[in-house]
Amino acid sequence: MKWEENVRRVVPYTPGEQPQKAGIIKLNTNENPYAPAPGVAEAAAALDVEKLRLYPAFPEKTDLAEALAARYHIGTDQIFIGVGSDDVLSIAFMTFFQSDKPVFFPDITYSFYDVWADVYRIPYETKALDADFQIRPADYREPNGGVIFPNPNAPTGVLMPLEAVEEIVAANRDVVVIVDEAYIDFGGTSALPLIDQYDNLLVVQTFSKSRSMAGMRIGYAMGQPALIRYLNDVKYSVNSYTMNTAALALGVEAVRDEAYFEMCCKRIMETRARAEERLSGLGFVFPKSCANFIFASHKTIPAREIFERLKENDIYVRWWNKDRIDNYLRITIGTDEQMEALYRALEEICG
Ligand SMILES: *Cc1c(COP(=O)(O)O)cnc(C)c1O
Repeated sequence: MKWEENVRRVVPYTPGEQPQKAGIIKLNTNENPYAPAPGVAEAAAALDVEKLRLYPAFPEKTDLAEALAARYHIGTDQIFIGVGSDDVLSIAFMTFFQSDKPVFFPDITYSFYDVWADVYRIPYETKALDADFQIRPADYREPNGGVIFPNPNAPTGVLMPLEAVEEIVAANRDVVVIVDEAYIDFGGTSALPLIDQYDNLLVVQTFSKSRSMAGMRIGYAMGQPALIRYLNDVKYSVNSYTMNTAALALGVEAVRDEAYFEMCCKRIMETRARAEERLSGLGFVFPKSCANFIFASHKTIPAREIFERLKENDIYVRWWNKDRIDNYLRITIGTDEQMEALYRALEEICG
């Protein structure tokens, strides 16, 4: 068809499966196995449905922005809130990566980055992780149009020390460096304190993992006010009312309940420590994870085979048919009970 010449073509991102079958064990998309903070359910019950006839508030003028600002000790003008961090990151690509030079990111990383680069026609270059799946800061010293990486990295779970993050930010003062901290709350050190010193640093976090609210779609970016203003200019040029009224009201309660948040993160880290032992015992090897998942390879049985056998047992993990990582499974840390079911199935498959 002639009109196809004018179509913006792109190979879309493939999200993890969301099977709707009951009774499955879902360890494939890094969701939190625990419910959101109790205050979230109360806020949902108290939601004034009559108010839904109105357009929502502007996110930066809400209690959610105030709660995040208080939690992270920054101004509300240093926070940009979006529909999950995917929305925030997508707008950040559109806003900050306008150079003719390539944007740099690791070869093994969140597989949405090359999709956004393609859809927005942004040139990019990937930098190979070393044999231990570490990012090498020295690779990010050549001229570029911007830098983005997750810390901890996905799908490896490997954390980069703060000094190495700063090295990359400091070596790239002429471009924006985005640190995607989707998993930072599971034992990592955030780069957030560096935003005072570096006007080119944007730190992005999400409610989807550590705050148990993947279904609500809330993400946020933090940086100096100038960065946040540019993000808002682009956002308000695409879609003004992105955050719905319910998300704004429910999100506040997830931020306010610090004790519950800490308890859930601690539990997941404890379950992860046990998973390291159990998986090692079953013949798996994996880099040290600082996230709510483990990226594991079995010494003798191919990952694809384990992936398929687990699925037959209604246990879903993630596997990519991709160079360098096709013998790895990314296993989300679930409840202790879910993990016990996983070990039992793995004993059958690998034993
Ligand atoms: C999960 C994830 C996100 C996106 O999460 P949202 O649900 O859109 O907030 C972003 N980056 C990485 C590395 C992730 O794993």
